[in-house]
Amino acid sequence: MDFDLPSQDDPRRLDVRRWLADNPDPTGRELAEAGYVVPHWPAPYGIDASPMHQLIIDDELARAGVTRPANAIGIGWAGPTILAAGTEAQQRRYLPKIISGEEIWCQMFSEPDAGSDLAALATRAVRDGDQYVINGSKIWTSGGHGSQFGILIARTDPDAAKHRGISYFICPTDIDGLTMEPIIDMTTAHSFNQTFFDDVRLPVEMRVGEEGDGWRLAKVTLSNERVQLSSSGSLWGAGPSAGDLLDLVRAGGGAVDPRRRQQLAALHCEAEVLRLNRLRTLSATLSGKTPGPEASIQKIMADEHGQHVMAAAAAVVGPEAMLSGSGPAGALAKRARSGATEIKIDTSRFPDVDPVWHYGFLFSPALTLGGGTFAVQRNIVAEQVLGLPREPNLQQGMTWAETMRSRTTAR
Ligand SMILES: Cc1cc2nc3c(=O)[nH]c(=O)nc-3n(C[C@H](O)[C@H](O)[C@H](O)COP(=O)(O)OP(=O)(O)OC[C@H]3O[C@@H](n4cnc5c(N)ncnc54)[C@H](O)[C@@H]3O)c2cc1C
Repeated sequence: MDFDLPSQDDPRRLDVRRWLADNPDPTGRELAEAGYVVPHWPAPYGIDASPMHQLIIDDELARAGVTRPANAIGIGWAGPTILAAGTEAQQRRYLPKIISGEEIWCQMFSEPDAGSDLAALATRAVRDGDQYVINGSKIWTSGGHGSQFGILIARTDPDAAKHRGISYFICPTDIDGLTMEPIIDMTTAHSFNQTFFDDVRLPVEMRVGEEGDGWRLAKVTLSNERVQLSSSGSLWGAGPSAGDLLDLVRAGGGAVDPRRRQQLAALHCEAEVLRLNRLRTLSATLSGKTPGPEASIQKIMADEHGQHVMAAAAAVVGPEAMLSGSGPAGALAKRARSGATEIKIDTSRFPDVDPVWHYGFLFSPALTLGGGTFAVQRNIVAEQVLGLPREPNLQQGMTWAETMRSRTTAR
């Protein structure tokens, strides 16, 4: 690591500490007004913080046990886009409540026939005076049922080239003509929805940026990611980490089976590689460089690592991992009580149930799909990092799988 976090008496640290002393249990709005939710944004939303200053603020908030408002899509995606391309009126109306977490946002991008090939989207937005009339359907709208607004991309010009005829909108979820059908995933949680638009009338003021500029805006967020230091959680940075699992096993007396030991050691090595790669990215950011290939491979490796953590946790637990309410902690405790010998543990140290691990085990297959599938991520690395030839275009009107099938049949 070629950088150090500033010392304990750095004036920027002392500022945060003073503020925390005055606001020991800050609300989302208080954090937002202090500029501590998005410190790297300009005033009045942030404090134009440098990457190092952001790390100091993160460090101090974490030390004080203060968490930022949970509004991932609003703060990570919608906000930066509105900041970059929204009108002043849009910024004033939406940004304060996005960063304070008072208004939660969802993302209405994917469609039943447009996922990896998102630019194939078919939801139409037809201009009618000072409104757009929206018709179509979006799918996998995570948390849409608990959101007040969504970012929506829809086709405004069906005759323009695929990427050019798309526009970007802000869409209230309680608007007439919009309905959501729940999709229950295999964790049994209601995480997603299918969203239907039947003659939804959106005022022109809800369009972000110019008509036809939606594809460019949909990618704006990529350049707005916050500096991340410590997201070692196995579920997209949240949830338990490999280290948490190893601590549980260690605290329980360790693993006796040599194959299990091998699996857990491999997990530790993977977590270390990821940690060092995160530090490489951070080091580049802190010295003012654009992170290189290391940033591109992080998501691929982290998604698969999350699956490995959960697979190892399930292996430690055994068949009980399938049962609701089970997890390494609870199951290890039960197993020790029943005298099973593979892992010896001190039963007093573990709670009986551990739904986080059970949920993580069932959720983990989604890690390599959401936010760009494992295959799409590899295509990006192949084309943009390794400079390999671009993959052939999809055949008109066909999905990737159908194109491949038709080519195989044609050969
Ligand atoms: C947990 C989770 C949360 C999500 N939340 C949201 C949300 O809030 N809002 C939203 O709009 N969407 C959301 N999505 C949808 C997500 O963006 C899509 O699932 C993703 O883009 C893949 O699209 P698809 O599901 O249609 O699969 P497809 O694109 O149909 O892919 C099917 C298979 O084909 C492979 N494939 C596709 N294209 C290629 C190619 N060019 N080369 C090689 N292989 C290829 C894929 O890897 C995959 O295995 C979420 C998904 C998940 C899993």
